[in-house]
Amino acid sequence: APSLGRKSKAKPNGKKPAAEEKKVYLEPEYAKSRITDCEFRELVVLPREIDLNEWLASNTTTFFHHVNLQYSTISEFCTGEACQTMAVCNTQYYWYDERGKKVKCTAPQYVDFVMSSVQKLVTDEDVFPTKYGREFPSSFESLVKKICRYLFHVLAHIYSSHFKETLALELHGHLNTLYIHFILFAREFNLLDPKETAVMDDLTEVLCSGGGHGGGSTDGASGGGAGAQNHVKER
Ligand SMILES: [Zn+2]
Repeated sequence: APSLGRKSKAKPNGKKPAAEEKKVYLEPEYAKSRITDCEFRELVVLPREIDLNEWLASNTTTFFHHVNLQYSTISEFCTGEACQTMAVCNTQYYWYDERGKKVKCTAPQYVDFVMSSVQKLVTDEDVFPTKYGREFPSSFESLVKKICRYLFHVLAHIYSSHFKETLALELHGHLNTLYIHFILFAREFNLLDPKETAVMDDLTEVLCSGGGHGGGSTDGASGGGAGAQNHVKER
């Protein structure tokens, strides 16, 4: 079983940056793990008769809750000491306060900023109206994009810095499933800038490419139409 230890495999020249380290989450054994065989490509499509903004609001709120929950499972390991910056592979994120001023912060602080600002938005009746007859603001789409960008940062941080812990908790199937659903949803409605997500392109390729339920390239041996069997194999 995977351990919580942080074994850093130093490369021979000792100069390789963190991103060059082996990305455990790309290993087929873990990447193929899912909690459902659901066809996310169909699930994310706007259903007939449902208002686009309602669909975006409802899904964004749900993703926020799931990302928050997934992060909470590893939050005890995401400390100011272990994660001194909000790093994802070689990329470092900074928080910008209301005045647009760059704030230097640790990863847990950054995630805290993300979660409280998103919480504020999704519970703001002027931004995410729930009452009948209330209209969405003109800034709605850009706010949804902003939320998605933040949620992506948190998901990417869990993969790049806390995958071993997620693995030890046997929650990688949940993480993969959430990531696939989130990425395909964002793709369907152009909510994430490809430049933003480039940092995790290798993972996205492994998880979201191919047909079926997004595991096409990783479980080629099992063939199509064998959903039930795939499921058993993953256990
Ligand atoms: Zn962390």
